[in-house]
Amino acid sequence: MKKYRPVMERIHDFKPVELLPGEGTLRDDLARCQDCGIPFCHACGCPLGNAIPEINAAALYGRWNTALSRLLATSPFPEFTSRVCPALCEGACVQSLHGMAVPCRRVELAVIERGFTENMLRPRPPAQRLTLRAAVIGSGPAGLAAAWRLNRAGLRVTVYEKDARPGGFLRYGIPDFKLEKKILDRRVRLMEEEGVEFECGVEAGADISGRLLQSRHALVLLATGARRKRDLPVPGRELGGVHFATDYLTAQNRLLAGEINSLPPHCNAAGKRVVVIGGGDTGSDCVGTAWRQGAVSVCQLEIMPKPSETRESSNPWPEWPRILRSSSSHEEGGERRWRVSAQAFVPAEEDPALLGAVLCHEVGWNKKDGRMSPVPKQGSEFTLPAGMALLAMGFTGTEDSPLLSSLGLTLDPAERLPRDAAGRLPGRNLYACGDAAAGPSLVVRAIADGLRVAECALEDLRAISL
Ligand SMILES: Cc1cc2nc3c(=O)[nH]c(=O)nc-3n(C[C@H](O)[C@H](O)[C@H](O)COP(=O)(O)OP(=O)(O)OC[C@H]3O[C@@H](n4cnc5c(N)ncnc54)[C@H](O)[C@@H]3O)c2cc1C
Repeated sequence: MKKYRPVMERIHDFKPVELLPGEGTLRDDLARCQDCGIPFCHACGCPLGNAIPEINAAALYGRWNTALSRLLATSPFPEFTSRVCPALCEGACVQSLHGMAVPCRRVELAVIERGFTENMLRPRPPAQRLTLRAAVIGSGPAGLAAAWRLNRAGLRVTVYEKDARPGGFLRYGIPDFKLEKKILDRRVRLMEEEGVEFECGVEAGADISGRLLQSRHALVLLATGARRKRDLPVPGRELGGVHFATDYLTAQNRLLAGEINSLPPHCNAAGKRVVVIGGGDTGSDCVGTAWRQGAVSVCQLEIMPKPSETRESSNPWPEWPRILRSSSSHEEGGERRWRVSAQAFVPAEEDPALLGAVLCHEVGWNKKDGRMSPVPKQGSEFTLPAGMALLAMGFTGTEDSPLLSSLGLTLDPAERLPRDAAGRLPGRNLYACGDAAAGPSLVVRAIADGLRVAECALEDLRAISL
């Protein structure tokens, strides 16, 4: 069964790479779902607790309405997770013990898209609208999930977003070829029809003070993300052509959305040799984006050792398998190198203000004070010619911001918002969810955390009004 569009077709556009599962194509896979006594996919795998065996059984017998209602019972935005989730459920699938996991993510995609196509997803405003107001700061997956839950409970919810449009990294990080923005717009429209208000282009803490938000709302939830980027402070870092991956991806997303008319030159890989530093999701998104922009070559570097193709004994099922993963972007070409670290950015001969190459060395990994640390290998230096180097080494935590100072909040030692187990922040009616509070993670975890904290905040409200 074909899962992706052909490489030679897709690298010329930013349209979705993944094909929707056609009628009947999932039947054999669905028949492999064992309806296990203890479904680890559901219990250990999915942060949302999706009832995967029930969804799969309903889909197998063509009971699409049932499959959809079982899915929507735990997951407010399956159209996002079914496109970008690494499928933690599949890592815990019993079938994956001896072979291929049941493709639960693709089943989810089939179920939710059928739901939209057949007009089964209609706005569901709350039965009763309360006078209480809630403010959600940030419209990434955590903020959207929290807003969705609070609105369902009848609160009057306003989402404040400093970017021009809602979505957080769903809109300005993840490329269109993984998540087309019309999918996000469709959900935002549905939420608006259900009564959620979006105020975009408003930075809470700067355009509206934190204290004012607190005084006007019964609840204020911070879902501001973890945006402090990990840098690489090596010689030549200041050269033109060395940039953060998220700035690069954001520019491409803005261009496709018509928010800008052309790419800034430093965000255009056309005709350039590109080195991507960082082997994760963001790095792989840069690989796919660079090919589509017309890069001459793409090389992705990772400092960690190459993972094995199968589970190590130290990483048993049903833990998430720490194995080699290749994305659709990797299928599109380029080189991947492991145990490599960039040592310096070298100026170009023709213009010393611009990048000409990346000086690298191989590393070994030694245990020091109980922790693994990289050690450069003597004599292993090599140079990669490059006109563009993209730093995709993740995020260290939440950034300081006018919002935090206006609310008198300071970050914890791990650079996260200092919340308690229920998501409460120090201060009246304040809560935090998503990457800002839990640390940089995944869309599915941000959604689950947004729902959980919204629920805890509602419990607190109910306790006050008793
Ligand atoms: C390039 C890239 C690719 C990724 N790919 C995947 C993937 O394939 N699968 C996956 O599961 N995860 C992926 N992730 C991770 C995932 O996107 C994040 O974990 C998730 O978006 C976090 O959600 P969030 O709502 O906590 O924060 P964010 O998505 O970061 O949203 C925070 C929002 O808050 C807004 N904000 C901040 N401060 C203020 C303020 N003061 N006032 C108003 N608004 C404010 C920001 O503008 C932003 O819109 C990727 C991340 C990146 C960067």
